[in-house]
Amino acid sequence: MNEKLWGDFEGRMRDLRELRSAASLLGWDQETCLPPRASEARGRQVAVLEAVIHERLCDPRLADTIAALAGEALPPDRAAMVRQLSREAERARKLPEAWVRALARAQSAGLAAWRQAREAHRFDLFAPALGKLLALRREQADLLGHGGVRYDALLDIYEPGARVAALQPLFARLSTELRRLAEMIAGSGRRTPAIEGRFEVARQETFCRELVTAMGFDLTAGRLDRSAHPFTLGVHPTDVRLTNRYREDDPRPAIFGAIHECGHGLYEQGFAPVIAGTNLADAPSFGLHESQSRLWENLVGRSLPFWRAFFPGLQKLFPEALGNLAVEEFHAAVNGVGHSPVRVEADEVTYNLHIALRLALEAAMIAGDLEPAELPGAWNETSRRLLGFSPRDDVEGVLQDIHWAWGDVGYFPSYTLGNLYAAILLDAAEREIPNLWERVSHGELLPLREWLRRKIHAPGRQRDTEETVRAATGEGLSERPFLAYLWAKYGELYGLARGR
Ligand SMILES: [Zn+2]
Repeated sequence: MNEKLWGDFEGRMRDLRELRSAASLLGWDQETCLPPRASEARGRQVAVLEAVIHERLCDPRLADTIAALAGEALPPDRAAMVRQLSREAERARKLPEAWVRALARAQSAGLAAWRQAREAHRFDLFAPALGKLLALRREQADLLGHGGVRYDALLDIYEPGARVAALQPLFARLSTELRRLAEMIAGSGRRTPAIEGRFEVARQETFCRELVTAMGFDLTAGRLDRSAHPFTLGVHPTDVRLTNRYREDDPRPAIFGAIHECGHGLYEQGFAPVIAGTNLADAPSFGLHESQSRLWENLVGRSLPFWRAFFPGLQKLFPEALGNLAVEEFHAAVNGVGHSPVRVEADEVTYNLHIALRLALEAAMIAGDLEPAELPGAWNETSRRLLGFSPRDDVEGVLQDIHWAWGDVGYFPSYTLGNLYAAILLDAAEREIPNLWERVSHGELLPLREWLRRKIHAPGRQRDTEETVRAATGEGLSERPFLAYLWAKYGELYGLARGR
């Protein structure tokens, strides 16, 4: 092992990491507390940092160092660091500066056109900007390289190694079962109790802090702040930022927002100290990161044992609104299955149908089989087929997500993969942690956090997603554990006859 060569590589890798941390902290600041007049100055600060990062990634001396290391026998962790940075540098080199600038321009034009189209309820105002963004994404796919399917090159950015040809049959099987379950729930005639009243925001925030603390989030190595859209930023395992938003008329968005973001936050706090500050301190895919937020939010946070532990505390904070509600009623109220046309408000059962819809349409658009002008019609038709209804208008339909306004294509499948991985992981945790649910019902969440930390968080991205999950559970990607979980839970909640 040539230690001088390694030292050179490690220095470059760690510096890039610090530069990224600084850039993302500026972004966090922008979302939480930047004075309104400062956004232009902030834009310039971020742009300079991004340029420095790009320059360093494309530095020929980095390429030389990586090439020289190819001849060295490296231990697995170091080999993974080299693989990771080499992939990133190669990607940066393949995208010329003119393309990067053109994308940035098309993104701000896309966002502006999308906002206008929403305001005027006119999709045609957004269509030309979307067309430009799609053309740039096709160009990006060609620049990055692919085996004949452009969508795969974009998917690979979020889910390394995933292929749309493998995802489509998985989504088809999943959609068939989800539709059946959703129809049976609709036919059951059961309605979920309403949650009504005034919920003082400061008290909600107190409760959310208690929840994330119980989950094992370390507030001396992290924060919980407010922002318009909840998100999590991991600067370093000792500095993890969660944000959340609050509504006075309903505490549920804040509660499940906090649990969701905390799931991401535990991942970021859980990287082993030896990989902190290296490029291995990250999830191997967006889907696996999302599996952690979804596992906590839905599989744990919407379970009856969880609320047996935490509902009394919530009742104490809001005695007028919740004092007369039984824990079983509250549990039913956080598990309502309805017909939301909006993805972010969808329940666990129909959520992945929303994703199936987006995957079908964006893959067709990138392949050139669907023109932007035809998109609203295709959206409404696919929505009818998958969800059983079409939206009232384009704002509630095709214009609802910000992703395409930015030209982000290939991102949506990660949400569903997160749900599927969450169920696989929880199955294994149930097998390995004695009396897991009984402990949860006493508010003991640390055994689960410890299990996840050891199996998923600590290794970071030393291995890819499939290998990480297989090492943790012995299982590979499948829709079956997720479907079994849904049938068991909603079968009981809605009194369904065993329909399988
Ligand atoms: Zn998330």
